[in-house]
Amino acid sequence: MLDDAELIIFDCDGVLVDTEPLTNRLLAEVITEAGWPVTTEDSIRMFKGHDLNEIVLEVERRVGRSLPDLLPEYRARMFASFEAGIDPVVGAVEVLDTLDALGGPRRCVASNGPQNKMHASLTAAGLIDRFDHDGARRLYSAYDVGVWKPEPDLFLHAAGDMGTAVDRCIVIEDSVTGIRAAVSAGMRVIGLAGLTPARDLAASGATTVISSMHELVAALG
Ligand SMILES: [Mg+2]
Repeated sequence: MLDDAELIIFDCDGVLVDTEPLTNRLLAEVITEAGWPVTTEDSIRMFKGHDLNEIVLEVERRVGRSLPDLLPEYRARMFASFEAGIDPVVGAVEVLDTLDALGGPRRCVASNGPQNKMHASLTAAGLIDRFDHDGARRLYSAYDVGVWKPEPDLFLHAAGDMGTAVDRCIVIEDSVTGIRAAVSAGMRVIGLAGLTPARDLAASGATTVISSMHELVAALG
């Protein structure tokens, strides 16, 4: 299915950088401290891949008061943790090396997270310079367009900015919201199962589901 692809759009968290166990633990911590006891597993199940602003609204509804400090506190803990280092997702470096060796397709990152989170996590994982094309760093944030996955706008923006038709794009996603965004954008999407089960990714419309980035290496080779 990769034969005619001209652009691979990678989600960031859970696809390139192994941030989800850490960030969901921190999110569960701050939400619990705000008065709604949730575990890391609860956070993964309910919130992974979602717009953080929507999550804050949900927590505020649950605890019945405004929580202006929740997001700044979460982000402060997250950035402090990134400085200790973040691992790339297993197999992600091999995927990027294979694309380099093949000379294409081109690639970019499209995340529901803000630019500074993408920069920090990709830098901590040693991947920050792996998405440069035509003199630009190809990192696209939902905050840049003001619309978040599962809406298709971010993926359409990335494809448009890179001058690629939607039917020549392939998205790699590990969350239901991202799969739905790619489907809405008219793009093929490979689901990377892990914290989100394969059946949920398939039910959301993933064209194919893989259980490791190594399977993508095989498909590219
Ligand atoms: Mg993700």
